[in-house]
Amino acid sequence: MKKIWMFLVVIVCLLCVNCVFAQESGSEPTGRIGIISAMDTEIDLLLLNADIDHEDQVGGIVFHVGKLCGKDVVIVKAGIGKVLSAAGTAALFNRYDISSLIFTGVAGGVGAATKVLDMVIATDLVQHDFGRITDEGFVWSSPYDTASGYYACDETLVDLAYNAAVDTLGEDKVHKGTIATGDQFVASASYVKELQDKFDAIACEMEGASVASVCAIYNVPFVVLRAMSDKADGVAHETYEDFVDTAADHSCTIVMKMLEAMK
Ligand code: SAH
Repeated sequence: MKKIWMFLVVIVCLLCVNCVFAQESGSEPTGRIGIISAMDTEIDLLLLNADIDHEDQVGGIVFHVGKLCGKDVVIVKAGIGKVLSAAGTAALFNRYDISSLIFTGVAGGVGAATKVLDMVIATDLVQHDFGRITDEGFVWSSPYDTASGYYACDETLVDLAYNAAVDTLGEDKVHKGTIATGDQFVASASYVKELQDKFDAIACEMEGASVASVCAIYNVPFVVLRAMSDKADGVAHETYEDFVDTAADHSCTIVMKMLEAMK
């Protein structure tokens, strides 16, 4: 009899320890859709429409956990640039069970076809500022985690995003193609031409490829949605100021439409 009691006590202790560890690691019982951005304005409309259950803070990053359009989501603003966006993505994946990732935000249009307030759905992304500095100047090369230098988005998510965008804005204002990412706000007519010629890019921004790189390491399907705030040309700073908030809201609206269409 005494042995049976001892056995039961040990089992109960083990169960308690297990619960404590599960809570500390913050693991979620179900897969959630992660939604990430660089700036507050890029998630404001989502948070306005979401039913947020709670917020978790990890370092300086705030994760909003709840429901949006009937789906379980974690929404996070990670910050501007490749470092912060990669750090935020890794923190998101380490803390929550994320089944797919959507980046929402604004970008500069590359090439004549991509106009201000148009929408770009990335099919793939490339780091345009990765490479070697030589006596002849900068020479682009592929980062070490991808042979081609391009990170491919998930085709199902791309189709969902594209259809949602066409539904909202019409076919003329929606483009699918390559996004070029770098740690620079591009405001140069000559450099933006280079992005088109060298990488066949149709938009440029500062986070997409770094998020994509982390998604590849964690094997999480992802897509990047960007509404054009400017044309990345000589007047990009002024155009950006005028259109950033409207463009950010467009991208959020399309993310919500996309979530509604998701199974
Ligand atoms: N308010 C800041 C600009 C933020 S950086 C300033 O004036 O200093 C611009 C943000 O929008 C980044 O998150 C980037 O991903 C995106 N973006 C929009 N237009 C861009 C452009 N022309 N080049 C690079 N990133 C751009």
